[in-house]
Amino acid sequence: MKLKDKVAIVTGSGRGIGEAIAKKLASEGAAIVVGDINIERARRVAQEIKDQGGSALGFKADVSRLSEVHDLVKKALEVFGGVHILVNNAGILRNKPIIELTEEDWDIVLDIVLKGVFNCTQAVLRSMMSQRYGKIINISSVAGLGAFNAGMANYAAAKAGVIGLTKVTAREAGPYGINVNCVAPGLIVTPFIQKSMGEEGVEKFIEERKKASVLGRVGRPEDIANLVLFLASDDSSYMSGQIIRMDGGRADLM
Ligand code: NAD
Repeated sequence: MKLKDKVAIVTGSGRGIGEAIAKKLASEGAAIVVGDINIERARRVAQEIKDQGGSALGFKADVSRLSEVHDLVKKALEVFGGVHILVNNAGILRNKPIIELTEEDWDIVLDIVLKGVFNCTQAVLRSMMSQRYGKIINISSVAGLGAFNAGMANYAAAKAGVIGLTKVTAREAGPYGINVNCVAPGLIVTPFIQKSMGEEGVEKFIEERKKASVLGRVGRPEDIANLVLFLASDDSSYMSGQIIRMDGGRADLM
C-alpha cells in the first residue's frame, strides 16, 4: 500500500479521469474526499470506494468558489485529520471560435480551470506547510502546451496558466517538503469530450487522435490515474515543478 494513512482531495472526481484517480489512490490505502460540483456523482463514487473497503466522503464544492473550497478542506481536516494529497482535476470545456466567444464563456472556463486550481492550492497549502509534507498534482492538458486546437482559446489559455501556477507553487512549497507536479493529458475518452463534441464528432476525433499517436490508441482515465498515483506517492519524492505529457506519443506535437 503506497498511500497508507494518507488523505487525498480529488476535485471533479464524480466521473471521468477524477473518478479513476480517486479509485486508484483509494486502492493504495488513501482516504479520499471526492469533491465535485455535482453531489450525486460525488456520493456515488465515494460509496463505490467504501463498497471496496476504502474510506471516502462525497462533498459538493465548486472549485471556482473560494468559500466552498474552504468548506471542502475544513471537512477533510475534520473527518480525516489532515490533507496530504491534492489533485486539482476539475475542469470544463466551452469550445467556440474566438470571434464567437462571449465574456461569460471566457470567464467560466478561466474561473473553473485556472482560478479553481489556485483556490484549492491556497486552501490546502498552510496545513501542508505546517505538517511539512504534501503532494499537489495539477491536471493541465496538451492544449496548455501549445496543441493547435481550434475552438479552445479560453481552455488552452487556462491550461497554460495551470502550468505556470504549478511552477510557482513548486518553488514556494518545495522548502516545506511539498512536491508539486502537473500532468498534461492528450485525448482521454470520458463524458467530457463525448458531451462537448456529440457522438459522431467524437468518433471522428478519436480516429484522428489514434492516427496521431505513435501507440495507435487514445487514452483511458486509468492511464492518467496510474501516473497520478506515482506523483502522489513517495516514489516521485525527488520530482517537483514537472509537466508530464501523457498523450500516447502524439507525433504531431513532437
Ligand atoms: P468530465 O467532464 O468527465 O469530469 C469532470 C468532473 O468535474 C465532473 O464530474 C464535473 O461535475 C466536475 N466539475 C465540473 N465543474 C466543476 C467545478 N466548478 N467544481 C468542481 N467540480 C466540477 O471530465 P474529464 O475528461 O474527466 O476531465 C478531467 C480533467 O482532465 C479536466 O481538468 C480536463 O480539462 C482534463 N483533461 C481532459 C482530457 C480529455 O480528453 N478527457 C484531456 C486533457 C485534460
